Amino acid sequence: MSSTPINLRIPGPTPLPPEVREALSQQIISHRGVEYSQLHGEIVTLASEFFQTTNDLFIYTSSGTGMMEASIANTLCPGDKVLAVSIGNFGNRFIKVAKAFHMDVETLEYPQGQAAKAAEVAQLVAQNPTIKAVIITHNETSSGIENPLSEIVPAVRGVSPSILFLVDSVSGMGNVDLPVDELDLDVVFTSTQKAWMSPPGLALVSISPRAWEAAKSAKSPRYYFDFANMKKFQAKNQTPETPAVSTMFALRQALRMMKKRGVKETFAFYNELSAYTRQQLEKHNFKLFGDQSHASKTVTACWLPEGLEDKEFRGLAKKKYHTILASGMGEMEGKLFRVAHMGWVTKQDIDTTVDALVKVREELQK
Ligand SMILES: *Cc1c(COP(=O)(O)O)cnc(C)c1O
Repeated sequence: MSSTPINLRIPGPTPLPPEVREALSQQIISHRGVEYSQLHGEIVTLASEFFQTTNDLFIYTSSGTGMMEASIANTLCPGDKVLAVSIGNFGNRFIKVAKAFHMDVETLEYPQGQAAKAAEVAQLVAQNPTIKAVIITHNETSSGIENPLSEIVPAVRGVSPSILFLVDSVSGMGNVDLPVDELDLDVVFTSTQKAWMSPPGLALVSISPRAWEAAKSAKSPRYYFDFANMKKFQAKNQTPETPAVSTMFALRQALRMMKKRGVKETFAFYNELSAYTRQQLEKHNFKLFGDQSHASKTVTACWLPEGLEDKEFRGLAKKKYHTILASGMGEMEGKLFRVAHMGWVTKQDIDTTVDALVKVREELQK
């Protein structure tokens, strides 16, 4: 086995700090015992600080996509009109999920690289007063663009005060300042393998009083993801079914480390690291992709250097420099490369990555 450390720079799953790997190796405990309840309770308390919410916050053994289903199934009925705002691949996935649950989906789609415009979203809602919910991506991982929710939400609530906001912050929450209560967001979800320095396996979701009210009359089918059932068990700091106990150990350790850095300090760290990443890439003549005034704080997308093939470029980065990058997604597959700076990452990692990218380009352009 090679001892070369791998520079895993894809936007999830992301690398684990040694302390988290160690926590992961703990012996399994009973999920109905006191020790488990303490573990569960501590995660809810700490994660709520990063969500900046006093809403219910649940832990599901699921990947993030499961929460797309849960958010819809718990708050809406088949045939309900929803507005899906998509700026990329994960927005498109949310549309597919809504359709699978028989929603009447109105879509507002933007080309990859753009952010949604508050006035346009609000106008569509004004024109369609029967829209019950807006489903939207906070941080579009496929294009490296963040939607300006602090503009979109007030604009939409201005025309439809009690509309539901179901928000995919799978790759933002934890690293990016998205104040759930202040912005009045109804269902917000994330998963552990993105911004949380934790392995895959768990999803976190917050549920507002407005969403609970909607849940009372929501007729969509649900069992495993039924929020009301989860709430009964949450009262005992448990889950209805078997949780991914090992991932819980890891997540608690990661949260303790994040908390030690500080909540505001964590958001500031990723904000600055994102700016640094873009600055370094531009300094070395890589062309950033998309509207930089809405740049993601956790992932950067770049055009492939002219004349180079995606497979060759990322292949050489992997083979020679042990640097694993992501490609573009959907229509941008093979045209972009993406560098993640979420979860466990340092400035040094970015320097190592940019250095490798410069060398790979040089070698391939020879
Ligand atoms: C990764 C990701 C998802 C999917 O999450 P899984 O945990 O892979 O199901 C959804 N939305 C966004 C924005 C993501 O980055």
